[in-house]
Amino acid sequence: MSGRTLLYRGSLKSCNYQCSYCPFSKHAMSKKELIKDSVQWRNFVQRLKVQAEPLGVRALMITPYGEALIHPWYWEGLATMSAEKTIDAVGAQTNLSFSIEEMRKLYHSLGGILKKLHLWATFHPEMISVEAFAKKVRVLWENGIVLCVGAVGVPEQIALLRQLRAALPEEIYLWINRMDGLKRAYTEEETEAFLELDAYFLRELSPPVAKAKGCQKRLFVEGNGRLHTCNISQNIKMLWEDIQTEWPESVCGRKLCSCYLAYGGRDDLLNQALFGPYPLFRVPRRAKAVFLDIVGTMTEKEGREAKVSESIKAGLIGLFREKIPMFFATTLPYEEAIRSCKEIYPMFQGGIFAGGAHLVWKDEDNVWEYIYELKNEEFLGLEKEQKSYHYRILRYKRKGQLYKVTLLRSRQKPWKIEEAEELIERCLPKQCKIRYIIEGACLQIVNQRADKASGVRMLCKKMKILPEQTIAVGDSKEDLEMMALCRGAKD
Ligand code: SF4
Repeated sequence: MSGRTLLYRGSLKSCNYQCSYCPFSKHAMSKKELIKDSVQWRNFVQRLKVQAEPLGVRALMITPYGEALIHPWYWEGLATMSAEKTIDAVGAQTNLSFSIEEMRKLYHSLGGILKKLHLWATFHPEMISVEAFAKKVRVLWENGIVLCVGAVGVPEQIALLRQLRAALPEEIYLWINRMDGLKRAYTEEETEAFLELDAYFLRELSPPVAKAKGCQKRLFVEGNGRLHTCNISQNIKMLWEDIQTEWPESVCGRKLCSCYLAYGGRDDLLNQALFGPYPLFRVPRRAKAVFLDIVGTMTEKEGREAKVSESIKAGLIGLFREKIPMFFATTLPYEEAIRSCKEIYPMFQGGIFAGGAHLVWKDEDNVWEYIYELKNEEFLGLEKEQKSYHYRILRYKRKGQLYKVTLLRSRQKPWKIEEAEELIERCLPKQCKIRYIIEGACLQIVNQRADKASGVRMLCKKMKILPEQTIAVGDSKEDLEMMALCRGAKD
């Protein structure tokens, strides 16, 4: 399981670049202020070394006002933390103006682990040429440093950003941030141009409604110890020094998670499936295939009320544009799943339906299907108990083959395990090889061999990939085995 991420912003408010639009380029810091920043950071790191493990913190990212990585104390702290066994990733937002050679020496002298370093590198076209920036990216990438590169989506700079894309190694993700000062919506052509550069650009245009419940794995710490759930949320009423072993409750106060550092740190929104176990570093995971549960993962409600939010849809469009095969993995039967996901269905290559009893794979012009069949006659005994157990029987068939039997009750009468066991014992023949799934008022019966994990195995075999190269996301017991097999999205 991946751990928690700490974001740190010290009292630093200065930069070695002088971009015309940036407030920090105009602010010089005195020696005294810089010393204060270094002392705050060193104290923070010292405490983090002790507290990281009990708090479950496994990643640290510096998100400075200005440029932090031109100051040696920040590198010292990153190298020190990267040497800790329980830390998986450290990194910073940066303009990449630091000396790679000095960084390497310092890392080496402190026993730091370079492959844990993650850089979020922003291109500032007023200060550096495309060629020089791309060259630096390439050197870092060839040194095994994980990094993403990006810029603000200024419409006038589309041509320049295309040049940047062309100059970067293909594997390096180029993100485009929404331009806040644009004061108008992007035109369709501009949106398409940015989408061609950044498959996930629509996420920037569809910030999700704030939901602090999904923010339990990230904390934003200021140099003076003040805490926030994210970079734009209200203060939490305790200080970094006050935290011992208990992680503070999330506090929000926002209507929207309006920037990547906010929405990218949420536990939901498919963040880990799209951007790996520590999505705030913004490096796409690019799994070989993605298996997604529907209700509770992509839609909050079910049936007619099911709706995939714009931010989830934007993430799926990103996967689709990156040509990553997507599959549903649901207990819903095929027809209901398609009805709930009308808009996104065309982007999917198929799915694991009815809890694994019905598999579909669309490969260019062909559609392959597999059914784990049930024997109709074995379920006749259920007819006579409908009144006493208050259910009606729904039989799901595909091309004449029965694959799921659902015993449906009114919403007020959810099934209990004991009732289900008793009914099955009483009505189904002993040799009947089935398993059942209870979802509230639905008792669903499928073939014993049908489950989501087996579905993943079979679909991976068809695609000639390994389950461990894929990612699965779900939120219920039914999803656990599948998520363990595929490396759950949060690993
Ligand atoms: S604004 Fe921040 S704290 Fe609030 S829900 Fe969004 S990410 Fe979480």
